[in-house]
Amino acid sequence: MTGIRDLTAAQAAAKVRAGDLSAGELFDAYREAASGDELNAYLYVAEEPNAAGGELGGVPLAVKDLFCTEGVISQSGSKILEGYRPPYTATVVQRLQDAGAPLLGKTNQDEFAMGSSNENSAFGPVQNPWDRERVPGGSSGGSAAAVAAGTAPWALGTDTGGSIRQPAAMCGIVGLKPTYGAVSRYGMIAFASSLDQAGPLTRDVTDAALLFRHMTSKDPCDATSLGSPQEVVLPSATSLQGIRLGRPDDLSTEGVEPGVMEAYERTLKLAEDLGATIETCHLPHADHGISAYYVIAPAEASSNLARFDGVRYGLRHDGDGDLLSMYTATRHDGFGAEVKRRVLIGTYALSSGYYDAYYGRAQRVRTKIADDFREVFASVDFIVTPSAPTVAFGLGEKTSDPWAMYLNDYCTVPMSLAGIPAISIPCGLSDGLPVGLQLAGPAFSENRVLDAAFALEQALEFDGSVARG
Ligand code: GLN
Repeated sequence: MTGIRDLTAAQAAAKVRAGDLSAGELFDAYREAASGDELNAYLYVAEEPNAAGGELGGVPLAVKDLFCTEGVISQSGSKILEGYRPPYTATVVQRLQDAGAPLLGKTNQDEFAMGSSNENSAFGPVQNPWDRERVPGGSSGGSAAAVAAGTAPWALGTDTGGSIRQPAAMCGIVGLKPTYGAVSRYGMIAFASSLDQAGPLTRDVTDAALLFRHMTSKDPCDATSLGSPQEVVLPSATSLQGIRLGRPDDLSTEGVEPGVMEAYERTLKLAEDLGATIETCHLPHADHGISAYYVIAPAEASSNLARFDGVRYGLRHDGDGDLLSMYTATRHDGFGAEVKRRVLIGTYALSSGYYDAYYGRAQRVRTKIADDFREVFASVDFIVTPSAPTVAFGLGEKTSDPWAMYLNDYCTVPMSLAGIPAISIPCGLSDGLPVGLQLAGPAFSENRVLDAAFALEQALEFDGSVARG
């Protein structure tokens, strides 16, 4: 690897700002690396930088396929949107360009962000740079693999139930899911609108803070966006003195594989050495998170995906020539199996007669989960769990068992339902594969979450350079 690509994004930006590195050279180094990608992480690589200057100093950005980028393919990993080039750019991508981060490329993902392994992409699976026979996690698998492999300095992903944190964990990098509303969703091809949030996938916590700082905004184009109440600052904490960490017995034992558990325990010990106190806490409804999520997310998806009918965007198959048959032929050929499964589940859950029994009930569970967190945060600062119950698993290992696949989200879904921020940082290895630690805080506590994650990161000294070859 060249020296330029050894720099973190924040270091590269600082060098460009100081005049020690040319933005053009930086872009070319990553353009070349991204063009030579062997992991199927990229669906498009840009020819020329479309931004420069600013605090982000021309450091190029890999962007998950589902963000609309003007004139550049934005397909959400789906055949139904193959070749679609939107006439506008998503607010977060635009903001990052305005701050000096040019588009490096579009990254592979699970179709419409539905998945935990990137195997639901219409454009083929992504390989994990730590072990090419394994998945990178999902749905932001392309973004995570690109950052871990060093073909991108940093990347954007989205998280609906874990799709930033879980691939970050499986690829040994940092991933932040912001508080719901901290970041505009305008121009993100929607999966489940009450859960979707964009966030950074980066080599370290400082890069995550730097990127997030320029992402957060109250956007007139997204009525659910609020921005951040305080300016996002770069983390600097060196100790966890006075910090109370809550260890939920509900989310950190059942189904978590032994190697992950060991890395988790070691990290909690390290946190204590840094001054934190650890308390067992209880999130009594978290266990129902997966069940509630897999009603709410498909319900919203079935509604959001109704727009793909062959009339407005992308693919059209005529069928027998009449309108209804055009709709069905297009959706039959354009959507993959997992997307169809979710549209069916979601439509069923929202149908009259079942709405209260399924959707209404899942929403009530969601409220209970949010209440659990509020109660726990009255006595602890953060909640810590493993980010995922396992390390990266083999390609094809779970594709025939949707339920096993859904359980990947066991530790991450409750925070999504509650709308609270959570970060995954690499906290060690199990059998040579990275393990992630999840740190979650109350709504809009990103500055404190980033600071605590930074203190831990310095002490952990995780070495991700192995995956960068
Ligand atoms: N794996 C989860 C799902 O399939 C979460 C996906 C996401 O966060 N986008 O829905």
